[in-house]
Amino acid sequence: MEKSMSCLLRATNLTKRFSPQDPPVVDKVSFTVEHEEIFAILGPSGCGKTTTLRMIAGFERTDEGSVQLNGQTLECPYTHIPPEKRGVGFVFQDYALFPHLNVLENVKFGLGGLPKSQRHYRALEILELIGMKAYHSRKPQELSGGQQQRVALARALAPKPEMILMDEPFSNLDAVLRQSTRNEVRRVLKEARMSAVLVTHDQEEALSVADRIGVMENGRLVQTGTPEEVYYRPKTRFVAQFLGKTNVLSAQASGLEARSELGTLMIDKPARGDIMISIRPEHLTLEQSTPANSSGMCGRVERREFKGHDITYHVLLEKGSCIVHTDNRMPFGVGDQVVIRPLEPAVVLDEDARLPVQGSFSRD
Ligand code: ATP
Repeated sequence: MEKSMSCLLRATNLTKRFSPQDPPVVDKVSFTVEHEEIFAILGPSGCGKTTTLRMIAGFERTDEGSVQLNGQTLECPYTHIPPEKRGVGFVFQDYALFPHLNVLENVKFGLGGLPKSQRHYRALEILELIGMKAYHSRKPQELSGGQQQRVALARALAPKPEMILMDEPFSNLDAVLRQSTRNEVRRVLKEARMSAVLVTHDQEEALSVADRIGVMENGRLVQTGTPEEVYYRPKTRFVAQFLGKTNVLSAQASGLEARSELGTLMIDKPARGDIMISIRPEHLTLEQSTPANSSGMCGRVERREFKGHDITYHVLLEKGSCIVHTDNRMPFGVGDQVVIRPLEPAVVLDEDARLPVQGSFSRD
């Protein structure tokens, strides 16, 4: 069903060069964010995520393109509304809390526009929302990293901005705290009915926190979609690999089928001739090789990684190799002969199939 929400933020052709002789670090980046939507900009280090966010925030000028919030132009080569007048809140990687102020005072800091009595009430209200009211008199250094991050979010939310901009907000937290804090941040943003742009290099974080994701590569936004769309329907090899483990193969297509190292597979759209495909390891399964199924695609288990809830197998094929994720109900051992079965159609990538492919690819 089409969403009927009107667009809150519109970034159009945002372009930034730090030196005239080098290519732009942000190159014609366009996306929209709807009311109450969490949009993640996901990409590897140095691809231009922070620079994009800084142009939206107003900390960086744009060379080309524009930023509009609620239809008002905040940024273009001829217009620059300063960050504090944009009606957006910021949450940074290092929290940026004032160490000499307690939690309540930190949250009240951004509420200068309200009468004193209302400031106190609003700060307590937002601390209640993030579950930090009981800690209101503590200093930041008396809080855990996750609690400090929640206070930073409370401080950004307190003045009721139009939207929140977050730059790698969970990267200073350890793995366990990161997971619980990001769940909490999503809950708070949803309860506050707030829109947000989140910058991250962590695909799991983007997939679990965002409503939509824009994947960035070398300054360009290469694919935008829901977490399910970018994960299950990657357009390019880069997106397929950046979003998780996958098998990328060259294949010869004819209609909705393609012949590959993994045998004849169904593909997600009709194609003809040389193509490149991606199939996620959880979309393959293994069977014991028997005389009855030996006509299937056979391989030998080269390596296995037991992970408790599932097992990853590295399977050697006649030519190349592939990775398969299965549950642990049918454990195979190293050296076992297996037959590989596809469970879902492979995804046809928008790539030049003449480029060399080296068997399976994955992102660890
Ligand atoms: P990370 O995840 O490592 O923070 P990023 O995707 O956020 O990376 P940016 O910080 O936007 O990337 O940087 C993109 C490119 O622009 C990098 O090559 C970086 O070195 C360069 N860059 C960023 N800021 C400046 C600056 N002020 N002057 C010159 N080059 C810069």
